[in-house]
Amino acid sequence: MSLRGLAAAALACALLTGCAQSVDPIERLGEKAAQRVRPHGPTGTPRRPYRRWGLTAPLPPAPKPSRATRARTAGKGLPPVVSRIRTHDKVVFLTYDDGAEKDPRFVDLVRELRLPVSMFLTDSVAGPGYGHFARLRSVGASIQNHTLDHPALRGLSYARQRAEICGQQDRLGSRFGSRPRLFRPPYGTYDTTTRRAAADCGIAALVLWRVSMTAGGELTYRRGAHRLRPGDIVALDPDEDSGLTLKERTVRLLRRVQEAGLTVGRLEDYV
Ligand SMILES: [Zn+2]
Repeated sequence: MSLRGLAAAALACALLTGCAQSVDPIERLGEKAAQRVRPHGPTGTPRRPYRRWGLTAPLPPAPKPSRATRARTAGKGLPPVVSRIRTHDKVVFLTYDDGAEKDPRFVDLVRELRLPVSMFLTDSVAGPGYGHFARLRSVGASIQNHTLDHPALRGLSYARQRAEICGQQDRLGSRFGSRPRLFRPPYGTYDTTTRRAAADCGIAALVLWRVSMTAGGELTYRRGAHRLRPGDIVALDPDEDSGLTLKERTVRLLRRVQEAGLTVGRLEDYV
């Protein structure tokens, strides 16, 4: 066949549906990603899970952070307070608070897309359903501290703050076999006493956020640029009466992450 003939055949091939040669590159990328995932996933994992969740391409794996990109620790022995990570890596971090919603489809999403999400759990909210969070942990989520009872800590006594933080360290440690390193103060409010108590409970950093996704699925920014940037920590507010599940809001967020040319990193690798 002449070169011109080959080109014509390729064009015809591209125009016809079902032609074996016309697999689009994203589809092939997805297959490779799925092959890498398969040994880890259970049987029955779809070949191209990203398509099932409505994404246009698999999320690329997060780069390994260099030491220089890690959050700096504050002086005086107090843990740093972090609301975004200083990094040029094209990553954002997904964080979830309280632990009210226990949707098995969210576990499926985390497993199939291998999302390194961080769950900040409050004992009085999440406690009755720790089994759900054990499943999330077994598919790659990390479990972090968000107090026993969710009080606003600023202004409370050292003893009270310590009881809230250390109490949840003990609870999560005995339930999951390891004590959290990260702590998110309820409502993002804290004082120096909070940092002292957190340090005494073995906490390495207080984690706040720059971006949050509301219950209705909109992104809001506490300060700085009104767009997703590398190193952003995104908090998904606890669900209210929005009609959107945690899974649906996460998928919506992932599309925004993908549109921004970013992927999801593991917060614990950077803090
Ligand atoms: Zn909370």
